[in-house]
Amino acid sequence: MINPQSIGILTAMDIEAEQLKTRISDLHEAQTDGMTVWSGSLGGRTVVLSTSGVGKVNAALQAQRLIDHWGVDCLINTGIAGSLDPRLTPRRTVLASAVLYHDLEARLLEKYAPYCSRFPADEELLQLAAKLMQPQGGATIGVLASGDQFISSSVKAREIAEATGALACDMESAAIGQTAYINSVPFLIIRAISDMADDNADETYADFEKQAADQAASLVTQLLDALPLPAGKHSPGGRSQASPQSPAEPENRAQALPTGFAGTIASFAVNHDVLVPGLYLSRQDGDIATYDLRLVKPNQGGYFSMAAGHSLEHLLATWLRSSVYSRQVVYVGPMGCRTGFYILLRGLDQSTAVSLIREALSAVAAYDGAVPGTASTAACGNVAEHDPAGARQLAETAAAFLKNWTAADLVYPA
Ligand SMILES: [Zn+2]
Repeated sequence: MINPQSIGILTAMDIEAEQLKTRISDLHEAQTDGMTVWSGSLGGRTVVLSTSGVGKVNAALQAQRLIDHWGVDCLINTGIAGSLDPRLTPRRTVLASAVLYHDLEARLLEKYAPYCSRFPADEELLQLAAKLMQPQGGATIGVLASGDQFISSSVKAREIAEATGALACDMESAAIGQTAYINSVPFLIIRAISDMADDNADETYADFEKQAADQAASLVTQLLDALPLPAGKHSPGGRSQASPQSPAEPENRAQALPTGFAGTIASFAVNHDVLVPGLYLSRQDGDIATYDLRLVKPNQGGYFSMAAGHSLEHLLATWLRSSVYSRQVVYVGPMGCRTGFYILLRGLDQSTAVSLIREALSAVAAYDGAVPGTASTAACGNVAEHDPAGARQLAETAAAFLKNWTAADLVYPA
């Protein structure tokens, strides 16, 4: 688990900082380059809170100041964002898997420094925040696009969504992500949807601004409470307490790392005894989500045949890679246990992923043509081992059990 000593919290505007300020104990106010910075303790660790001002340059400058002058080793940015996806409605919390710019050409950033145009958020912070959001209806994880413009036109919003694959837009997060990336500091972006970035955006914005800002502030507080305390900070009586004056104890690094085959990989930790057919989020690596499409109840017989799985692989992969989300498809393939498939999708929100996989299965169930990629031995490693009828049957069954599946159902049964 990441264990930052000092966390920098950046907000774009005062309203976003107000809520957080009330939660910080031992609050001190200072000025750095004319910008107000509040430091203190939250969740038992040192926090440095600041507003950055609106826009990319302001955000990048303030992020760098917090790193240089205040020594923060982790950046969290909270605030509000405009939705670029009609299904992402106001009040919904978005956690950025990665951030990028919608008003700066990616190819230029890739060709020149920093040779990278999308900046992935810290995976552990992202997963922790997502988990904390679950009791409150969950958060949507996806790409955020930033630019120096308040988006209040449906046409522009659609343009940005199509060009970047982003779910929501704001004016700072990519600049903070880039600064964090360059300084090798982990970062997390938490944004609450305040408006639909459409022609009504100015109106909706005023309504939700405060509420959305409060919501994000409350998640940051929970997040800091949930992080393990830095070395040298103890939690008497079970509740974390800051003790910045006490000398830091050496970090406990004695625990040996598993080597070779001694470790337990995350997918073995899933309880296969209670696993039932369904669609689950197996893991999230940056903006790549691994979905577990479980077709058969594990260890109960009834495994699909290699031939049916092989045909389903060809059919699903072809359909998905021919869909409008073709560029988001990273991998599709059967599990060796013959009870399910892994489907890896990049930069796609969970609701869209669920619909996409369901549509793919329905399409396969209804398709009775030749299996793509089996016309010649040049296209497939084992053209003899195919069972299109078996694949159709698997797809039909899966499409049926996913009929009412939603993003909220993606959590593995405990
Ligand atoms: Zn093949």
